[in-house]
Amino acid sequence: MANKQVAIVGGGLAGLYAARLLHKAGIEFVLYEARERVGGRILTIDATGAPALDGFDLGPSWFWPEAQPAIGAVVDELGLAAFRQASAGDVVFERMSREAPQRYQSRFVEPPSMRLVGGTAALVQALLRDLPAEKILRGYRVSELKLCENGIDLTIADHNDVSRVHKACAVIAAMPPRLLEATVTFDPPQDAEIRKLWRETPTWMAPSAKFIAIYDQPFWHAAGLSGTAQSLVGPLAEIHDASTASGQSALFGFLGISADQRANHGNEPLTRACLAQLARIYGPMALAPRATHYKDWAADSLTATALDRVSAGHVVPRTAPWVLGSWADRLTLGGSETSPSEPGYLAGAIAAAERAVAATLINIRV
Ligand SMILES: Cc1cc2nc3c(=O)[nH]c(=O)nc-3n(C[C@H](O)[C@H](O)[C@H](O)COP(=O)(O)OP(=O)(O)OC[C@H]3O[C@@H](n4cnc5c(N)ncnc54)[C@H](O)[C@@H]3O)c2cc1C
Repeated sequence: MANKQVAIVGGGLAGLYAARLLHKAGIEFVLYEARERVGGRILTIDATGAPALDGFDLGPSWFWPEAQPAIGAVVDELGLAAFRQASAGDVVFERMSREAPQRYQSRFVEPPSMRLVGGTAALVQALLRDLPAEKILRGYRVSELKLCENGIDLTIADHNDVSRVHKACAVIAAMPPRLLEATVTFDPPQDAEIRKLWRETPTWMAPSAKFIAIYDQPFWHAAGLSGTAQSLVGPLAEIHDASTASGQSALFGFLGISADQRANHGNEPLTRACLAQLARIYGPMALAPRATHYKDWAADSLTATALDRVSAGHVVPRTAPWVLGSWADRLTLGGSETSPSEPGYLAGAIAAAERAVAATLINIRV
């Protein structure tokens, strides 16, 4: 094969980990990331809302090294420090709007949810550190893959929306299969059953939205509360302490209302309703945050498709192939959802990348 370069589509955890493995194996690669930042669903921000090296997670916060040793091993390999999710203190349950929230003694939960010092983006930064910067191209959106004699032609739009054809001997699509099916065209087209499989594979957490309120003090601790709450009243369904290891205080919650309802409300009324709920649960100090941030992943076209609004849930782990026919020895799917273990999770992104790189090395006969 003349062109020996493997193209990775997507610079989330799976794409970056695939890049690491290819780089370690001495294989030429280039990674195309559509956003101007890498990390994908991993997004750590500071109080101003800018991506940060020490901050608050609008995407994943937790990993479970005991249940998911693969992610624990990567965290150790990269020399990252972790800490336990704050859970000391009572939890609160809001059952209905006409009842005051009830507090309960929290039960010790095993295995503990772990967080990374700095935020989950510490994982992204550590992976970037060991990769050649010129091979990680941000602002490059792949729109078409075409089989050609020596591999695959990728049609890619750059920051200025100018499309060019880039060549690769093989492609690892490190993005959710549902998003791949909805946004990338194939020549020749993918098999109808395979397209259906990709379309019907839900993208984990794509329908979700997270709200973060940053405070000067963790006043809920002084009241003997852990920060953990569940609510059937809403708009937040589940709330947790989001304070950083460096001592910045925050609470975060997952919105419990649908993507369509969220879009109808708009951000400001939602923010007011979230703060009012935090005040019901944690007291009036919750009404005076230093900053609030809200991320609706369902409204982000580089994570979610229209289908994620109506069909969601856990991915069923699959060991059978994700690609068939003439594409099978050129294209490998490597996003977390394609992992044979823990699909949809950070741990799944690691396992999916490992599997995709192993298959690619066979395909390019290394
Ligand atoms: C709110 C939220 C909370 C979560 N909480 C947890 C948690 O606590 N623990 C856990 O284990 N997991 C959690 N997850 C899931 C976790 O974030 C994912 O498993 C993981 O980040 C997936 O990584 P990935 O690389 O497979 O996909 P992604 O992160 O989605 O990366 C795909 C990348 O492809 C890029 N892309 C898309 N289309 C194109 C294109 N056409 N061309 C080029 N690039 C493209 C995207 O911009 C993106 O960067 C959470 C997710 C969300 C949204």
